[in-house]
Amino acid sequence: MTGEALPDPATLTAGQLDELNCALCCRLLADVLDDRMIGKVPTGTGPRRRMAELWACAPTCATARRRQVRGA
Ligand SMILES: [Zn+2]
Repeated sequence: MTGEALPDPATLTAGQLDELNCALCCRLLADVLDDRMIGKVPTGTGPRRRMAELWACAPTCATARRRQVRGA
């Protein structure tokens, strides 16, 4: 698709497979201003097998801007 190498799903955390953490740098996606879907990987076994969407910081992990934290 993009030609970007996807991480090995066996090395990903539950948070990364559940779209909570960046699949590349593990940052909490809620903390970055933009994110992007980088691809899908198969995860789980048997009846629990599914395709997990992998999300990452955008435009890249190195340049992603932090979301401004609104005053609580
Ligand atoms: Zn990242």
